[in-house]
Amino acid sequence: MKFYNSYIELGAQFFQRVSPDKVPNPQLLLWNNVLADDLSITPALQNDHELLAKYGSGNELPNGVNSIALAYSGHQFGHFNPNLGDGRAHLLGEMLDKKGIRRDIQLKGSGQTVFSRRGDGKCALAPALREYMMSEALYALGVPTSRCLSVVGTGELINRGLAKPGAVVTRVAASHIRVGSFQYFAARGDIDSLTALLDYTIERHFPEIDDSSLNNADADSTKISNQKPSQEQRILQFLEKAIDKQITLITQWLRIGFIHGVMNTDNTAISGETIDFGPCAMMGTYDNKASFSSIDEYGRYAFGNQGKIGQWNMAKLADCLLVLLNDTAEKDADNNIEDEVNQEKTLESIEAIIQQYTSKFDQAYYAMYAKKLGISDIGENHITLINDLLSLMQTQKLDYTQTFDSLTKSLSDSVKEKALVAEFGRWYKTWMDTLNQLSITKPEAEALMSKSNPLVIPRNHHIEELLDRCELIVTDNMNSNTSNNPIVSDIVNDFLQVICSPYKELTNTKYYQEAPQDKDQYYQTFCGT
Ligand code: AMP
Ligand code: MG
Repeated sequence: MKFYNSYIELGAQFFQRVSPDKVPNPQLLLWNNVLADDLSITPALQNDHELLAKYGSGNELPNGVNSIALAYSGHQFGHFNPNLGDGRAHLLGEMLDKKGIRRDIQLKGSGQTVFSRRGDGKCALAPALREYMMSEALYALGVPTSRCLSVVGTGELINRGLAKPGAVVTRVAASHIRVGSFQYFAARGDIDSLTALLDYTIERHFPEIDDSSLNNADADSTKISNQKPSQEQRILQFLEKAIDKQITLITQWLRIGFIHGVMNTDNTAISGETIDFGPCAMMGTYDNKASFSSIDEYGRYAFGNQGKIGQWNMAKLADCLLVLLNDTAEKDADNNIEDEVNQEKTLESIEAIIQQYTSKFDQAYYAMYAKKLGISDIGENHITLINDLLSLMQTQKLDYTQTFDSLTKSLSDSVKEKALVAEFGRWYKTWMDTLNQLSITKPEAEALMSKSNPLVIPRNHHIEELLDRCELIVTDNMNSNTSNNPIVSDIVNDFLQVICSPYKELTNTKYYQEAPQDKDQYYQTFCGT
């Protein structure tokens, strides 16, 4: 395994050098061999579960690892906290995947750091397993996401009100740069670090901004010429591209009914991947206001608010970039290159980019729903069709996944079609008329819909049941000093086999499609910290 830690080059103000805590009895509970293969981890190491448990708990560090905890700030539920950072995570470094893309390898639940504040630096088993299962599910569903390489039980009990078994999860992400990483330096007025972070992020995630040869012919060709972009242009393009990634991410969450639950700016990755699965949940019954997190009292991060919150978070990123822009403009003014008029223009450009989020998001949102209805090219008049269906689902309290699955199947199954005609009446006829007007055949629509509408999602009641079973097994093991770890991985992998085939029916798919009896009426999720 080859590790490299490029964050270290950014300077000591970006992190704390700190090693993971040692744990008493590391046991490998879950290992993601597909992801491991993609990171070119050798079969010899993959078979050495004892060593993997040492690596995955932080008891031993692979050669070349320079373990650090990253500094960042964040708006938590709208309130700014300048001092967050990795309070229970250790970034080991980066590995190259098979495509040559750098992936951060991070331990979570691996002990205290200078950023721990009052926290114990640990992670309980259930949230670790939840992160593993949910990220694998999202990945298979086609949603941008960080993933998990392993979950290692630590053999210690930690205090979460009750004593709970502890675990460390190894997370693999495109990077751990968050909106909060920019906020950390903007809040401190540290322009040099902010500039270094911008350069690092552009190089890692948006290299096409600085290297026009990486830009494909039709994308942004008007904006990027062969000339080197000015600092203003770089900043504006960066913001636009970061926004595009968030819009893609959030519309994909909405497509499958995912509620992140804690969309604070410290949990918003600039790469546009889903990170920090804390109190996440899946929406069963369609409800724009669906929210399950016990700490989200006012539904700030409810299902239907996620798009707007994405814009709010991007406005916070823009605030940081303004600090940079103002500095650039001042320097230019000193050099008599530019004047105040230009500074104002740049300000207006930033504002315009944030405003444009709304129309861009709406476009992506309706295009996504159009595909869920078999329409590949969204037109103005399809918006009503989509909105009407969502209102029907809301008032009739219909299951989100089952409804879209039934609509898909109704195109080739006359029994289902009849049932839906009875259920949706005029709406169904309008949908059929729309497909006809667009000359989209039923098989064509069905083909598109079956790629957009999963048959199965990781439903909350299934996840909770698995977590309870696994927690019981691991607690029993700890009490009796035995090891039934293979059972944990069997339980999780049986479930994941179905969940990771969301668009293709397997023999066991039917066991995971039903909605919970109580329709998640009393369901609550917790941060698990
Ligand atoms: P999260 O809710 O997981 O996104 O965490 C928010 C902040 O709290 C981050 O700075 C975390 O590192 C920190 N944090 C969460 N749980 C713990 C813990 N058990 N010990 C120390 N810090 C924590
Ligand atoms: Mg977090």
